[in-house]
Amino acid sequence: MNRVALKQGGGGRAMRALIEKVFVRDFATLPQHELNGGVGISAMDDGAAIKLGDDWLVITTDSHVIHPIFFPGGDIGRLSISGTVNDLAMMGATRVLGLTCSVILEEGFSLEWLEVIQRSMVEACIESNAPVVTGDTKVMGRGELDGIVINTTGIGLTRTLVRDNGLSAGDRIIVTGSIGEHGLAVMAARHGIEIDGDLLSDVAPMNSMIATIVGDVTAMKDPTRGGVSSALHEMASKSGVGIVLDERAVPVLPAVRAVGELLGIDPLHVANEGKALLGVRAGAAQDVLARLHQHPLGRRAAIIGTCVAERPGSIVLDTGFGKRLLAEPEGEPLPRIC
Ligand code: MG
Repeated sequence: MNRVALKQGGGGRAMRALIEKVFVRDFATLPQHELNGGVGISAMDDGAAIKLGDDWLVITTDSHVIHPIFFPGGDIGRLSISGTVNDLAMMGATRVLGLTCSVILEEGFSLEWLEVIQRSMVEACIESNAPVVTGDTKVMGRGELDGIVINTTGIGLTRTLVRDNGLSAGDRIIVTGSIGEHGLAVMAARHGIEIDGDLLSDVAPMNSMIATIVGDVTAMKDPTRGGVSSALHEMASKSGVGIVLDERAVPVLPAVRAVGELLGIDPLHVANEGKALLGVRAGAAQDVLARLHQHPLGRRAAIIGTCVAERPGSIVLDTGFGKRLLAEPEGEPLPRIC
């Protein structure tokens, strides 16, 4: 009997193959009659977009299963609000109309922990100006679930719909900050690795930052599971361009580099929860960068690559000593990172 493998939830090639083969194949045959030329399930974008008058209604959903639920720099509550707010923002919907919050708890889960998680959710809602408007609670028996799972769904309205497939040759790629912090902070916590200096998850709602630059981007994606490498591969292949990535321009904190080397994991391949990858026309790149630098979440934003017509779907890593193709990861190196 064929069974689901962990790597099929890892945000990379293996997961996309499962989704395409099982879910998208069947759901895409349903009449998508209310889309009005918008974004449906077969696009496999950060969310869906449905035309409503002059606006786009953007919808996205995400289930959060992170382990451990409290990690350096955040917890599952902050993550569950930020993840959905960010997916809305990646499609241009920086103003959140409403969020839903569905919590599944294991019998015996600490009520004190639940209250801490709840406070984190409220704080992230205040930061992102996003109201939770409805929810659902279920409890499963001891051992039937590992602690807590939180699903959030978000809706937002935007005039400017942004896709992940809008890159053209000549566009610059901008990353809004240093990479790899969420994935490596969680892995360090899970493995009990002691590090000099702080290694904190970057988990944060980005909509207020994205609102300052959303009119100038050609494509956008948040590099969550599978990291910058997965996200750039997906953007490049959907857009039909190649991307030359300047490795030395990619911002990586020393603590991230250290833990990455210790675990043998490239920061390009691990999850971020407060970073975005943007495509920008060459002429607008410096201006977008300057605006990002003014936002607390964008201080380390950098131009890290250029889109080219050659090798569509590929990422060429320019190391400064030579060039090589960046392999597309199967998925996130470790499960339950978000
Ligand atoms: Mg996303």
